Amino acid sequence: MICKHLFLHLKISSLKSHFSYRFLLFSFIQGLVLPTFSQDINNLKLKDYQPVSIYKVPQTKIVKAKFPIIDFHSHDYPKSDVEVDNWVKRMDEANISKTLILSYETGAKFDSIVDKYSRYKDRFVIFCGFDYSGYERAGWEKHAVAELERCYKKGARGVGELGDKGLGEFYSRPVRSSGLHIDDPSMKPLLEKCAELKIPVSIHVAEDQWMYEKADSTNDGLMNAAKWKVDLTKKGILGHDELIKTLEKAVKDNPKTTFVACHLANTNSDMSVLGKLFDIYPNLYADIAARFGEFSPIPRYSKAFFEKYADRLLYGTDMGPGSEMYQTTFRILESADEHFYEHKMFTYHWPLYGLSLNDNALKKIYSENAKKILMP
Ligand SMILES: [Zn+2]
Repeated sequence: MICKHLFLHLKISSLKSHFSYRFLLFSFIQGLVLPTFSQDINNLKLKDYQPVSIYKVPQTKIVKAKFPIIDFHSHDYPKSDVEVDNWVKRMDEANISKTLILSYETGAKFDSIVDKYSRYKDRFVIFCGFDYSGYERAGWEKHAVAELERCYKKGARGVGELGDKGLGEFYSRPVRSSGLHIDDPSMKPLLEKCAELKIPVSIHVAEDQWMYEKADSTNDGLMNAAKWKVDLTKKGILGHDELIKTLEKAVKDNPKTTFVACHLANTNSDMSVLGKLFDIYPNLYADIAARFGEFSPIPRYSKAFFEKYADRLLYGTDMGPGSEMYQTTFRILESADEHFYEHKMFTYHWPLYGLSLNDNALKKIYSENAKKILMP
């Protein structure tokens, strides 16, 4: 805001009159002391509303997680070897022992990602995608199973992130598979192969409920909901609950395959849905990645849920490889801080709260569950 003022007044100052210099100085000081004068509060947009917490309450900075972590949900962010090196340094500072790279990839691109991280074999675990090439033709899965085995031999230790927001599996490369959901019969040989190879399947189904609600003044998560809105008028699209059903069917029909539902299965507005699935299916886990802004506004409910299902939840980030990002996740999981904002990371208008999880739950969610799922 101050910069905007300066620019305007510098233009005026080009008149080079004595008056304009004094005016410039006055306006600059005014801008520094009273920046709010320039805000038209009656026309403030919700997206521009970035309050600063006024409460004098404890504020916890946690640089290093209390226990070692396996980050079960990250992606191939670095663009060079130096960036990989720097990431490892930040992982060391934060107490992240391993990071899972959910690559989505198959073929030569997958191989190049394995090679990229090969200098740090004990720090990164690479997941591959499914190759849906020719999925319109019967028998396509034979080639896909062969490619999965090849990726496994190259170093894949899981599959993911698969993704279905209603129109079919679309995260894997090189091609998306319109209309093919995780419970499609042709997926079964792939899921069974994962069980045989003892590698988990990470899958994102649906979006959180806000994205299905009307993007209007009543939408509780409007800032995200408007951006990620799911268009249910698209032909053939499955809704939230139908997608959860496809996941449930796949989990049920493939009891030997380990499934990891990404982002708490996108059931953050009603975690009891995920709880019921956990109660029935021992081969289902969920990562908590990229939903810190969604579960932190209800800290008592989330804490009770996380501690009850501590054997089934996995720490994940999915929010880049930055130090501040790690610190925010630790603050939310470990501290009991109240009413704080993280406008840089989350676009919601609501404040955040720490869950102060107990040590037993933290250890399991941070790495013990991941160790059970991943092959040595
Ligand atoms: Zn992701």
